[in-house]
Amino acid sequence: MSSDFAGLGLSNTSLRTLEHIGYLQPSPIQAAFIPVALTGRDCIGQARTGTGKTAAFILPILEQLDDGDKYVQAIVLAPTRELSEQVSGESRRLADGTKFGFATIVGGRPIGPQIDALENGAQIVVGTPGRVIDLINRRALKLGRISAAVLDEADRMLDIGFRPDIERILRACPEKRQTLLLSATMPAPVERLARRYMTDPLRVDLSEDQVVVETIEQYYVTVDPHRKSSLLVKVLQQERPQQVLIFTRTKRGAENLHRRFAGKLNKVAMIHGDLPQRKRDQVIRNLRSGGIRMLIATDVVGRGIDISGISHIVNYDVPEYCDDYIHRVGRTGRMCSDTSGRAITFVTKDQGEHLTSIEKRINTMLPEYRVNGFDAFESGPRRVHVNELLKSNPVDNLDDFGAM
Ligand code: AMP
Repeated sequence: MSSDFAGLGLSNTSLRTLEHIGYLQPSPIQAAFIPVALTGRDCIGQARTGTGKTAAFILPILEQLDDGDKYVQAIVLAPTRELSEQVSGESRRLADGTKFGFATIVGGRPIGPQIDALENGAQIVVGTPGRVIDLINRRALKLGRISAAVLDEADRMLDIGFRPDIERILRACPEKRQTLLLSATMPAPVERLARRYMTDPLRVDLSEDQVVVETIEQYYVTVDPHRKSSLLVKVLQQERPQQVLIFTRTKRGAENLHRRFAGKLNKVAMIHGDLPQRKRDQVIRNLRSGGIRMLIATDVVGRGIDISGISHIVNYDVPEYCDDYIHRVGRTGRMCSDTSGRAITFVTKDQGEHLTSIEKRINTMLPEYRVNGFDAFESGPRRVHVNELLKSNPVDNLDDFGAM
């Protein structure tokens, strides 16, 4: 594997852009994926967000398309609006030295400007499958001359139920095309999709297990269900996270937790799929600018978040599926942040098996997290309320968690 971008077969234009934006060395997925994808071959890359996978798939595409041809030549599908916008932003940056036009086609945004972008000759479309289908139906988006299709976070897209949409979109593309598939995990439905819509794909497997284990300190802590919020306070006091993402299993769980903390600590926010897009955007912006220190999220929305300031993940509820664990934990310890992350998973007594299956999945035994001066199990009838804890050991606001 080459240790610099020049050795990967990229053009001078791309090399100049990479230098300009300060990417000095390719990440492992870039070093492995770019040379293969540049040959035009179908490729499967096992990598999660935060490993540099956007550049890994978009650079080879930019190299192979013609920025003089004003029609849609490539389509990138991603599971959420936030991720689509992130991918689109990163792709535009990487296409800086070219004349490629982009259209970001996502729901929850006015459709007019998206149609305009297509009419103005956008060559690369990035979007969520639902809105893409919508624009195909309106005949605003034509895929008949596509030469590259990317399925980003394919496992996630299938989890959400986008399979029929994805298949429809791929069938609308010419058979002769390059298909690139990126996925943190490769469960059977993703394999089936790959078998059906890819031609002899080459696999670049940067095993997720290794990535997670290398960069992130992971712990579990056993706790009574009704002591979880008190434990959370203790963890925050002990860890003083730069930014923390807290995962709950359900929207209602996120709301309850938010209600419990929002009045008492500042810089606390919540995000889930029922919030209007405007609100979701605002939360992400605030998180990015440091205006939010503690974000409570559900899996669907939380997994698209790629913010280098996130130092900690708390799995307030054990994830339902082992792969969700990997996605959640992948939100911290980003390859480009100096600090490595910490992930702490709250487990109740009856969830031991769940913990074991996660450990098997990541092929690592998680050590137990120690909380000073906290009894995770109730010895008597007395319940300590969050308020009381905060009073006895004040954390008036999240700024007390440490310097930004
Ligand atoms: P991604 O996995 O594509 O979401 O990328 C994660 C973050 O890493 C983004 O903020 C990128 O801008 C950044 N990044 C990607 N590749 C490199 C690289 N080779 N050097 C430094 N930063 C990078």
